[in-house]
Order: sequence, then structure tokens, then C-alpha cells
Amino acid sequence: MMKDWNIETKAVQCGYSPKNGEPRVTPIVQSTTYKYDSCQSIADLFDLKVAEHMYSRISNPTVEVFENKMAALEGGVGALALSAGQTASTLAVLNICEAGDHLVALSILYGGTFNLFKHTFKKLGVEVTFVTPDAEVDEIRRAFKANTKLLFGESLSNPGTEMLDFAKFSAIAREMDVPFIVDNTFPTPYLCNPLKHGADIVIHSTTKYVDGHATSVGGIIVDGGTFNWANGKFPGLTEPDESYHGLRYLETFGASAYIVKARVQWVRDVGCYMSPQNAFLSNKGLETLHLRMERHSENALKLAEYLGNHEKVAWVKYPRLKSDPNYDLCVKYMKAGSGVLTFGVQGGSNEAEKVMDALQLAERVVHVADVRTGVLHPASMTHRQLSKADQLAAGVLPELIRVSVGIEHIDDIIADFSQALEKL
Ligand code: PLP
Repeated sequence: MMKDWNIETKAVQCGYSPKNGEPRVTPIVQSTTYKYDSCQSIADLFDLKVAEHMYSRISNPTVEVFENKMAALEGGVGALALSAGQTASTLAVLNICEAGDHLVALSILYGGTFNLFKHTFKKLGVEVTFVTPDAEVDEIRRAFKANTKLLFGESLSNPGTEMLDFAKFSAIAREMDVPFIVDNTFPTPYLCNPLKHGADIVIHSTTKYVDGHATSVGGIIVDGGTFNWANGKFPGLTEPDESYHGLRYLETFGASAYIVKARVQWVRDVGCYMSPQNAFLSNKGLETLHLRMERHSENALKLAEYLGNHEKVAWVKYPRLKSDPNYDLCVKYMKAGSGVLTFGVQGGSNEAEKVMDALQLAERVVHVADVRTGVLHPASMTHRQLSKADQLAAGVLPELIRVSVGIEHIDDIIADFSQALEKL
């Protein structure tokens, strides 16, 4: 029955089915530990013969509800919820990439992901080659090497709102026989399902629209269960794991091998699981995901149209504006444009700061994707650790203001930008 549900119904209903007399709302199981009737049942747990909870560093009933719902929304075989979006990017890669390996990533990424890939992975011996989204297919092919283990991109980039050309990049990943990992944070599974467009693994910063109310930092990895790990490139999945008395993940867990390994090996070893409280709040957020994403998208389009016609605005970028170069791809892959737009005021960086400081309803926050309208200046905030060249490669212009359009009444949002632009 669940399979036939529409995504709105899944957002409300999936993940938790209380039995007779049990709480209707997902309880917060604030327990690190679980109780067993016999030593044998604990031994079975350690042998991964039964899928029960052992310790809340590795799994927890509240977090499991959230994981199951996210897997259902994205259409995956399983999910692993983590303490941050950054953890999801880190583990999604390190689960299949080790010192001496290489990956190819699109150059337009969230600043934190770019730093992680360019600097921190380098220290761990994982090398990254960045390719621009408009690079020719042959040039992208040349970025791949014998030790390349994956291709990574964002479905809708932060902050540049560039729409991923799924057909182009997933075809390259197929040809190179590596998994395509897509960060789907900005669209959310309601607006876009990367697994339907050739991605193999999806990650999210659930801190953003999934939670949606700016209460909980979190991340998640969803495994599509489609990639052929037996192609000889991924011994970590096919060969015995010494730390698990010779377990072979692919042989034992089949289509779920990747996500099981991430949990029982990586999260066991490094301890970065989502807390039950954050899973509860993130799951609450999911119950209204569809309603919020529709309103975020509707408001963002109206504000983009307003700013586009304003004499003090040099340019506006929103993937659902007909004039935007991403429009066709956005219509192809997303139900609506999501809630993030960028614009540049006439003049540049100083003028951008003046407008930001004059806003009253829209607040200056180092955040994006919650119910309140917020603004941010990536060049001096989220992307300030990047060199100017890296900022430009990531689509961060000095005058760029990123607006996270909330779900307030659009007339109030427009009135606020109008009075702020008057101050110029
Ligand atoms: N991916 C994207 C697209 C993001 O926007 C962010 C944060 O802004 C992250 C990953 C990292 O997520 P977190 O802040 O939850 O660690």
C-alpha cells in the first residue's frame, strides 16, 4: 500500500506505524541503550543477524523513523541520519573512497563541501578534481582516472542556484562505472528526486528545508540501492571486513550494502549519528514539507519577478524565472524552483551591505531554508575562507545577496525589499 502513496502522504505517514494503544506521534526514545532477554540475542545483534537496536551511536528508534521516511520520500532502499550535512558529505565519500583514491566533483558546491573536498580530503589522501557544469563531455571524461571512485554534484547549487544537468552527468558516471552522489538539500525530495534522474546516492543537509524551522543541525545519506558495487572498484564492499570478523557487505546485504556499511563500520567507528531529539524535530518538519516547499517556491518566484523589474537591481537569478539560463533544466527536473534566489544591487559589495542592513522583516542570518525570510552575503560570510578565484568558480560574486524566501505573506516580503532598496 505504501508504495502507491503520493509523496505528500508519505511525508505525513511514512516511517512510523503505531500498534494498538501505542502513541500516535513518534515518541522521542531518549535512551542510549536497549535491554535484551538473553546473551544469545545480543550475540545475534553483534553478528548483524537481527536488525534490532544495540546502542544509540549506531541506531535509535526515533532516528529510524526519520530515516525510513526520508528513504521513502527519495525512493531509496535505506538511509542513515547523521549529526550534520557535512557529516553526510564526508561519510558518503569515505564509505567508498580511501587514501590513494580520487573523485570528480562539480565546481559549484556549498562552500563547506568545497573546503572539505579541496583541503581536508587532500590531508586524508583523497584527491579531488573539480569540473565546471558547462564543461564539454570529453573534458569531464578526462578528469576521471583509474582510481576515481565517484562523481559528486548538487542538484540545485548553493548559493548560485545552478540546476544540475542530470542527464549529462549521470551518463558520464554510468560510462565511468562509478556512483553518482547528489546533494539534494535545496530542492528536497518533494521538488526533485535525484534517484529518478540517474543518481545512485542522495545526501541532504537536513538542517535546511527538511527540518525547515531552523531548530536542528543534521544530515542524511539515502542509498538508491542501484549501483553495481561488484565491478571490481570497491573492495570495501566486496572483500571481507576484518573489523567485522570477515563480513562481506555486498554478499550479506545485497542492494543495501552501501548504507549498512556506512552505519555499522563508519558510524560505529567515528560516532556522528543524529540525536533522537533532532530526529524528532526533523521528522516533524517533514510532515509539512510539501506545503512549505510550495509556498517557499511561490513566494521566491514573486520576489524574483519583483526584483527583476527594480531599477536598483543589476541582476536577479532564480531557476524558475523564464529568463534564467537554468529555466529549462529546472522545469525538467523540479516541480517548482524552491525558496532560494540571488540578486546583485546596482553598485557592488558596499551597496549590497547597505540593502542588507536596511531590511527589517528579512533578517541577516548565516542560514538558509527555513520558514523565515533571511539574507546572507556569501562572499563575506559562508564562502569567506575561499580564495577570490575559488569564490568565482563557486558562483559567488562580490555583490551577490542570497535570499532565503520564507513562507510569510509575499506582500510583506516585497514591501521590506522595496523600503530597503529605497535607501540606496
Ligand atoms: N550541502 C548544502 C547544499 C548546504 O547548503 C549545506 C549547508 O549549508 C551543507 C551541505 C552542510 O550542511 P550542515 O550545515 O548541516 O552541515
